Amino acid sequence: MDKATTNGNGQLVTDKQTRHKSVFVETYGCQMNEYDSEIVREILRRNDFTLAESVDSAGVILLNTCAIREGAHDKIRSRIGELRHIKKQNKGTILGVLGCMAQNLKKELLEDNTGVDLIAGPDSYKALPVMIDRVHNTGEREFKLTLSEYETYADVFPTNRHGTNAWIAVMRGCDNYCTFCVVPMTRGRERSRDPYNVIEEVKQLTGHGFKQVTLLGQNVNSYKFKGFDFAKLITAVSRIDGIERIRFTSPHPKDFPESLLEVVATNPKACKHIHLPLQAGSNRVLDAMNRTYTREYFVELAERMRALIPGLVLTTDVIVGFPTETEDEFQETLAVMHEVKFDSAFMFKYSERKETMASRTMPDDISDEIKTDRIVRLVDQQRQISYQRNQLHLGDTFNVMVEGYGKKPKQLLGRNDGNKIVVFPDTGAKPGDFVNVKIEEVTPNTLIGVAV
Ligand code: SF4
Repeated sequence: MDKATTNGNGQLVTDKQTRHKSVFVETYGCQMNEYDSEIVREILRRNDFTLAESVDSAGVILLNTCAIREGAHDKIRSRIGELRHIKKQNKGTILGVLGCMAQNLKKELLEDNTGVDLIAGPDSYKALPVMIDRVHNTGEREFKLTLSEYETYADVFPTNRHGTNAWIAVMRGCDNYCTFCVVPMTRGRERSRDPYNVIEEVKQLTGHGFKQVTLLGQNVNSYKFKGFDFAKLITAVSRIDGIERIRFTSPHPKDFPESLLEVVATNPKACKHIHLPLQAGSNRVLDAMNRTYTREYFVELAERMRALIPGLVLTTDVIVGFPTETEDEFQETLAVMHEVKFDSAFMFKYSERKETMASRTMPDDISDEIKTDRIVRLVDQQRQISYQRNQLHLGDTFNVMVEGYGKKPKQLLGRNDGNKIVVFPDTGAKPGDFVNVKIEEVTPNTLIGVAV
């Protein structure tokens, strides 16, 4: 028999009634998804839902999914399979799929035997409380996948943040239509948040002790709100008391504004780190990807950035094995990576995504064996470059913001302004504290030093 308790309004409710008000959100994929999960939690909290500690104690399990790579899809498919068992044990449990995969694979998810009760795309989270109640009351499946040209969740400030950095989405969607990318299909058109609203959110965060924010968007240099561009937004955020570091990700190389370069160069709170996705080093492949820039333009932009911003840390994303990529074209990617000498890189094997232009018009014709061979060579080259770049820091002293403990006992871990990981012997500093650290040793991924 259901146990009866009273809710916040003094009404008598049973376990069965309260259980569907207890939600667990599990997140996959990028930082934008992490941020969106906080938005979902906040929307549900405001609508009398509570947050469960685990899937076992939740009446509603929401998977906030990613569609960027096939691996991410497979992981979520197998997680849905596992959760079907939990649904059998805990009758009445509602299983929902949110995010990019919901948008991308709606037909598959709506098939009879998936066990998924609810599907909501990235612009439908405000409807979740009603959708969950309907599934609970009717047992019918609910889905809402309409993409909006306006939704920015500007009025939902996530309140439950952890760590030393707070992510803030300042824009959503993307209009670039790179042929390999599913984001324009799953997240819709570009739209920017009102800057005053972003500033309010940052002020709230500083009130909770945050000193660092990372401004997020699929393409931040397209940020625009009534004459307010991204450079102005960073300047406005830097004027907020309590903010010490501002990071952002990711800009598109095609339209990197001079005003943004100037802000990064001159504003002491704007971190000297730019993540500039290259994707490929061959002009033919860049064109097939619809990246709308050439390797010559990219190299010149990277050189200009380094000349304007002393000490700049430059990182990138690269895809190998894009359809029709030849060995010579891959060699061009190796050559650009060698020429620019990024501090670090995220390197991926091409994986075909449904609904993208590439999937419709270009067969995935590079074998996995060749993709693997290419990525191994690229990673090997990049490790050596990262090591050389880090060696340039031997003897430098950096102001490091402590994030927590390192892997070794009595060791602290933090990041310098350029976002490089720095480890050093424990000084008793706490997360969020700043410590000057002199670098004495380096690896390709880490700077090792002592507090000075
Ligand atoms: S810029 Fe290209 S890769 Fe980035 S989100 Fe937009 S379409 Fe995808």
